[in-house]
Amino acid sequence: MNHPSRVNGQRRSSGGSGHGGSYGRSRPHRPSGRPSGGGARSGRPAGEFALPVSTTPALDPVSTFQELDMPAPLKSTLARQGLTTPSAIQSATLPNSLAGRDVLGRSQTGSGKTLAFGLALLARLDGRTAQPHKPLALVLAPTRELAQQVADSLAPYARSLKLNLTTVVGGMPISRQARALRQGVELVVATPGRLRDLVDRGDCALDQVDVAVLDEADQMTDMGFMPQVTAILQQVPTGGQRMLFSATLDRNVDTLVRRFLNDPVVHSVDPTAGAVTTMEHHVLHVSNADKQATATHIAARDGQVIMFLDTKHAVDKMAKHLLANGVRAAALHGGRSQPQRTRTLKQFKDGTVTALVATNVAARGIHIDGLDLVVNIDPPTDHKDYLHRGGRTARAGESGNVVTLVLPNQRREMARLMSRAQIEARTAQISSQDPELARVTGARTPTGVPVTLPAEPRQEASRSSRPPSRGRRRPRR
Ligand code: AMP
Repeated sequence: MNHPSRVNGQRRSSGGSGHGGSYGRSRPHRPSGRPSGGGARSGRPAGEFALPVSTTPALDPVSTFQELDMPAPLKSTLARQGLTTPSAIQSATLPNSLAGRDVLGRSQTGSGKTLAFGLALLARLDGRTAQPHKPLALVLAPTRELAQQVADSLAPYARSLKLNLTTVVGGMPISRQARALRQGVELVVATPGRLRDLVDRGDCALDQVDVAVLDEADQMTDMGFMPQVTAILQQVPTGGQRMLFSATLDRNVDTLVRRFLNDPVVHSVDPTAGAVTTMEHHVLHVSNADKQATATHIAARDGQVIMFLDTKHAVDKMAKHLLANGVRAAALHGGRSQPQRTRTLKQFKDGTVTALVATNVAARGIHIDGLDLVVNIDPPTDHKDYLHRGGRTARAGESGNVVTLVLPNQRREMARLMSRAQIEARTAQISSQDPELARVTGARTPTGVPVTLPAEPRQEASRSSRPPSRGRRRPRR
């Protein structure tokens, strides 16, 4: 278990020739009902990211934000946020998206894609004002947490241009969202189901939407949002700008690309060449009798961890067990109310909670600064879930470990999954007391002294009164 392992063999490429071309802010009119610019595809295996043929070459990548044709307040906000150098996806796509072109991005987790689309979108809205009920730009995301995270990331940039932004997600009062829309918001960040409801109720009209972004498109289609996404995009006027980000281009995503993107600039980064070069994968064989103790020792580490289990019930049980053993743990799954989910995530982000125990609901998109360990207490059944869960760590160039606990009867299936995910992992037989477990995960014996976390949002501990964090602390966003 001494050597780093890696995600294997994917390509790096970006669309167009990368030279020449100049694009105005306004785009050529696109006939309605047109086929997309995504034309012929090469015969790659299903699930691989096949690139549509774009006819217009891409503009050259930039090496600084200063070079970009972007409103000055966006540049000063970037500087205030401490961001100096564009990430690969920002450097390649922003010159084109700021010029108004459609973008198809294979978004590597932690790659900085939120700003890659967000800066272009906000630049396009600069100086404009939305009428009541009629947003000018739209970002669709698969989960409420991801939508909130996108909104939080873009808020300071939107503020710098005096643009209004609102989040429209399920599980929160619809009337408040309708009220916000009535006041006129330039940018709406939404999950598809709730936005569709608001459109159907007449609280939101999409006929002024000029920029539409689909974030984590593959997860949206996997979650069954295809009808809602299609219905929404059909109401967005043709001729506007569209950007789609997805880890894979499987059948449904491909349909969206062909239908709704026009001559997109394509950016696809090899995961081995980008930020995530320092992720190590460990498959730890454990006995049935020792599995819970192993997970508990890991959770008691000096630092934060996300731990995944299959079912809501197992998640609740594990979180309770950890609290009883002195670990500041909290459960995150679809059975909890939205305010509870939001609060749990906030407590994890601010360090109040050190062990987040979750179902796949937390597997995608969520960004926690400095998180260096993800543990699959239950191995995922789908290799894509494995990759997304692991993607919570080693973000933005940092290092991280993904550890999967595997019971004797799960070994064969786990080996198959890793092969499908094209990952070489270090494999070892361990026990909860094993020094090797401590070396890889920082595991230690829990205090055994039960802890409680504030139970109701209203009783939430203030930052000054919360328990001292033992975990590694980093500045939070
Ligand atoms: P994302 O992939 O959009 O979820 O971004 C992941 C993290 O990278 C966030 O914390 C961003 O603030 C951060 N980030 C985005 N762009 C940059 C950049 N150019 N330089 C450094 N960090 C960045």
